[in-house]
Amino acid sequence: MIKHTLLYSAIVLSGCTSAPQLDLSVIDGITSYTFIPHLTEAIPGNKSGMHLYDKATDTHHIYLIRSEFPRCLEHEVLHIIFGNWHKGRDSIEYCSQ
Ligand SMILES: [Zn+2]
Repeated sequence: MIKHTLLYSAIVLSGCTSAPQLDLSVIDGITSYTFIPHLTEAIPGNKSGMHLYDKATDTHHIYLIRSEFPRCLEHEVLHIIFGNWHKGRDSIEYCSQ
């Protein structure tokens, strides 16, 4: 039930092309993250992956299509580290199989 609640209240982030400029200063062990992977049959909007952050538990949830795993895992992990790294555009970068 929680899974479905989170799924439908999520911000869908996926779907694009050119390589982004990422601020690498936010990594190198400065921060740790907790994330829970969820494999599902479909994601709203026919997305290949989805990330959502549950602020109440300080936990990141990554939703991926079960039959395509690990497609988009890298893309969604980048959301954990960099937040909305392809802000304002859809992206499928780092979603190769
Ligand atoms: Zn994305």
